Amino acid sequence: MHTLTRKRDLRKAEPLWADTPRHAVRTQRRLATHDVDVLIVGAGISGALMANALIGHNLSVLIVDRRKPIRGSSMASTAMIQHEIDVPLHQLNRLRGTADAARIWQRSATAVEHLASLVTALQIDCQFQRKNTLYLSGSSFGARALQAEVEAREAASLTATLLPRVELRARFDIDRTAAIETTVSASANPAQLTAGFLRHAQANGVPIVETIEITDIREVEGRNAVATSDGRIIVATHVVFCTGYEFLDAVANKNHAIVSTWAMATRPRHPRPEWLDDYLVWEAADPYLYFRSTRDGRIIVGGEDEKSEDAFEDPAKLKAKSDTLRQKLSDLIGMKIGEPDYRWAAAFGITTQGLPMIGHVPGMRNTFATMGYGGNGITFSQIAAELISSSILGHADPDASLFPFV
Ligand SMILES: Cc1cc2nc3c(=O)[nH]c(=O)nc-3n(C[C@H](O)[C@H](O)[C@H](O)COP(=O)(O)OP(=O)(O)OC[C@H]3O[C@@H](n4cnc5c(N)ncnc54)[C@H](O)[C@@H]3O)c2cc1C
Repeated sequence: MHTLTRKRDLRKAEPLWADTPRHAVRTQRRLATHDVDVLIVGAGISGALMANALIGHNLSVLIVDRRKPIRGSSMASTAMIQHEIDVPLHQLNRLRGTADAARIWQRSATAVEHLASLVTALQIDCQFQRKNTLYLSGSSFGARALQAEVEAREAASLTATLLPRVELRARFDIDRTAAIETTVSASANPAQLTAGFLRHAQANGVPIVETIEITDIREVEGRNAVATSDGRIIVATHVVFCTGYEFLDAVANKNHAIVSTWAMATRPRHPRPEWLDDYLVWEAADPYLYFRSTRDGRIIVGGEDEKSEDAFEDPAKLKAKSDTLRQKLSDLIGMKIGEPDYRWAAAFGITTQGLPMIGHVPGMRNTFATMGYGGNGITFSQIAAELISSSILGHADPDASLFPFV
């Protein structure tokens, strides 16, 4: 059968979020409408934020998913909601020029603030917490590069503080040559976060229909005729693909790739440094280690990425990778990390510039896609919701062309 977005296994083993309450979303099994203003394909965090951005504008909006809602990558996320992008600004300056690179980083910081405001305004109960971030020097970037990074961020009007080795040791008891401390971050339970936005969209008249797969799309008389796997046609003025790592074949190219990643969560109330509850931590290394705590005192650790589309499916690697993550974290913070309560593995999308692709799909009329690649997927989903909704609503956004399909 012809598919528009190649179906792949997205995760192995259940993350801790699958066992938390309040992430169920009631859906419809049958399409009640076959003609809408906006069809959103995908009921993960990208689709949820997209639907919310379109509420209140007198548009009929429909979400469909071939899985149940929140059963894609959003369920696997470690949900460190950061404005710091995987490719540091001093490098992005070289790749994109200082003006665009600065706008990209600034937009990322604004998106974190917007997301935090939305969660507060809608009172989404999702363990959302504002956090600081610690970015440690490592095998990819040492103290000198971090100094250059702080200067690049200051030039782009972004706040970042360089912590030299002595200060890092005194405040965090971590032995690295340097770190960058920033404030604009947050963390959440990604399943509850997504469910909160999906429920809000539903309450505002957006039906969510599972399990419907979109298999084809054709332009007919200025609108889109969209085929489903059960032989129906949905006519939509605009179509937005929020399909995560199951990206549109039409935009597949050499600049983005799917790799494998691993994560684990300790038991609750695990011994941890006192400062950790206020920080997200990641490092300038390849493969990198990142970690944070949850409200109930678990430590979530992730990383150990491999450049393979399917290594994450290997059951033998699940334990081996979590042992490595535990050991690395233990070495870094000088505390023993106990056997995990949860360990999981997943597909992970990366791009050469650490940026997503957002906007009009080339050659497809009134069709948009958001592919939030890299460690900032959730932040990028918020940016995508803002940019694509503006485009649909006919509002100009000066950043509309910052994330092209290249
Ligand atoms: C282990 C891991 C850790 C991560 N950690 C972080 C982190 O700390 N911070 C962060 O910001 N990001 C993180 N990310 C990235 C982030 O989780 C993703 O960017 C985000 O979840 C993607 O959301 P999405 O809605 O775009 O995709 P998904 O959640 O995968 O949703 C896409 C949906 O589209 C549906 N779909 C696809 N094709 C079709 C079709 N043809 N018809 C119908 N439905 C279709 C799928 O079934 C799926 O449900 C992490 C990702 C992983 C895997």
